[in-house]
Amino acid sequence: MKITSEQFGITPAGDEVCLFSLTNNQGTEVKTTNYGGIITAINVPDREGKIDDVVLGHDTLERYLNRSRYFGAVVGRYANRIARGRFTLNGDSYSLATNNGANHLHGGLKGFDKVVWEVRELSDGLQITYLSKDREEGYPGNVRVTVNYSLTQANELRIEYLATTDKETIINLTNHSYFNLAGSGTILGYELMLNADAFTPVDKGLIPTGEIRSVANTPMDFTSGAVIGARIGDSYEQLRLAGGYDHNFVLRAGTEQLKQAATIYEPKSGRVMEVFTTQPGMQFYSGNFLDGSIVGKGGTAYIKHSGCCFEPQHYPDSPNHPDFPSTVLKPGEQFEQTTVFKFSVA
Ligand code: BGC
Repeated sequence: MKITSEQFGITPAGDEVCLFSLTNNQGTEVKTTNYGGIITAINVPDREGKIDDVVLGHDTLERYLNRSRYFGAVVGRYANRIARGRFTLNGDSYSLATNNGANHLHGGLKGFDKVVWEVRELSDGLQITYLSKDREEGYPGNVRVTVNYSLTQANELRIEYLATTDKETIINLTNHSYFNLAGSGTILGYELMLNADAFTPVDKGLIPTGEIRSVANTPMDFTSGAVIGARIGDSYEQLRLAGGYDHNFVLRAGTEQLKQAATIYEPKSGRVMEVFTTQPGMQFYSGNFLDGSIVGKGGTAYIKHSGCCFEPQHYPDSPNHPDFPSTVLKPGEQFEQTTVFKFSVA
């Protein structure tokens, strides 16, 4: 594995931002920056050995500063939504920044995707760290977050998240890459397998209702594999509410060990991506809110469904659902989550 770095730009606050490139001897390259921990590119071979970039993003830092939909970023402190930005912890009520209608989304107005991280090169990758101060975006506690990126010779991009706090708080961290395994076009023809027997239905603000519903006999069933676009237009209420797939899937097996969450296959290029995670849930988002208004790398307008996200996480709005797996982090404990995106061809 080889790491190189170059200047990516300077933020309006005067912070220097670098772009790092991790390459292995399979010809795979992952590019990441310490602004938002953003993965800006993943260059992987197809079945003919042709390399394409399989994630959406921008060519310049300036575009990330101004026009981004969390492309490739670390999201936190709380990935996904918290209803009305409110929750209580030990009898204290907290009010978070609201940035998605009445709700809190992906850490608020200035989440982890919009901050400059400290960076350190490791022997097998890159480590970024950030200190989120007490009451940042409304959250309690000084939280120290570390994210490690590494790339193996087996074409696995491994992302490890660690966090500690000095005051009881909540945390939910993920990566928000939009994948396009063909390198262009939409994701509707991809075959997807999700290792999930249930999902958490949402209301019209995309907040979980609290129900955990079986996927059986619904267009949410990807347990034996299905084409993403095959049922996306069905009149199923949950698909209509979200304009497609934008749901947290309840992953099979426990919360601790690294387990397979998804396999995605793009038939034309033959590219396969497998997702492994330690998390209990995963948001599958089919890029429904992309509408062509954001122009990304190489001048491409990102139209509806031009990328899809697989965001391993705890369930949305968990702080308001005591029966969901807990997202509470206490002083003395360490939050840990690991996700692996593994690329191959078939
Ligand atoms: C959410 C979408 C949201 C998107 C923002 C996803 O994680 O599930 O509802 O629009 O992030 O880019």
